[in-house]
Amino acid sequence: MLDLTQDVRDLTAAIVDIESVSGGEKALADEVERALAALPHLKVTRSGETVVARTELGRSERVLIAGHLDTVPVAGNLPSRVEGDLLYGCGTTDMKAGVAVALKLAATLPAPNRDVTYVFYDCEEVEAERNGLGRVAREHADWLAADFAVLMEPTDGVIEGGCQGTLRAEVMVTGKRAHSARSWFGVNAIHGIEPVLARLNAYEPRRPVVDGLEYHEGLNAVGVRGGVAGNVIPDLCVVSVNYRFAPDLSIKEAEQHVREVFDGFAVNIVDAAPAARPGLTHPVAAALTAAVGGEPRAKLGWTDVARFSALGVPAVNYGPGDPNLAHQQGEYVSLQKIVESERAMLDWLSA
Ligand SMILES: [Zn+2]
Repeated sequence: MLDLTQDVRDLTAAIVDIESVSGGEKALADEVERALAALPHLKVTRSGETVVARTELGRSERVLIAGHLDTVPVAGNLPSRVEGDLLYGCGTTDMKAGVAVALKLAATLPAPNRDVTYVFYDCEEVEAERNGLGRVAREHADWLAADFAVLMEPTDGVIEGGCQGTLRAEVMVTGKRAHSARSWFGVNAIHGIEPVLARLNAYEPRRPVVDGLEYHEGLNAVGVRGGVAGNVIPDLCVVSVNYRFAPDLSIKEAEQHVREVFDGFAVNIVDAAPAARPGLTHPVAAALTAAVGGEPRAKLGWTDVARFSALGVPAVNYGPGDPNLAHQQGEYVSLQKIVESERAMLDWLSA
């Protein structure tokens, strides 16, 4: 059984050595469930390969600490190995170091100052439909009820608040098909995208401050599709755009903005994921910031914190790993950072 009394650095290595590529988390989820179930101060439940453990002390506040158990495919980088201060191996930074910190908190804090819900979930590294946190949010939203959540994804020990939303749209430019030998009978849709590109080139992205953090939006073409044949004037050209929007906008507002930018063109919304507010104005978040130290910054990429936000739970990313090393074959984590992260979280929950 996973020994939760061992040092957080050794625990990280032990978890890394239990392979858990997305879809293959069962062995690790079993170990985590067994180890947590042995702790009398926790109530443990499970859905698929997602394990949830909670204290029920009747505290006035509840915080949620979450991490995914899965990793990207192994690339000849298991078992883990230590070199100086660095632990190498698949999933070290993303995000078994964070999972190990959460497990240590679960084991060593029988009476935290706030009730805590620990969530260890499956399938974060694959298509969104398979995401274990998403499944629990749909089927057991009550398990995720909390005043504030910390997702222990790698942030290099900095609190990263909320996340930007993302929206993909297709801007449709239509023309009239004709033989290219008599092109004057047609209207060339590919030539017609010029004003679309001009608007994108002239676009000034907003940098709004939300709950004290500055975000940085972007609206960019990410694809162009057009053309019928080498002798045909095309009647359709589609410019795919991606809008990364700050958490002061809802999906609806983001959609409206994109339609305004491309006024006069037909716009298809392909998909969208909501942004999440950083929630740093909440006192419980301020206490975390104080325990961690340093300046929180805005999260620009989309992460699972948005799933908490959608449930009305403000959430931040905070974890010991370096995000730039995630998914790399040479992935590693600083052992010192794991210890610092454990200490900050312990301070936050026991002060
Ligand atoms: Zn991750």
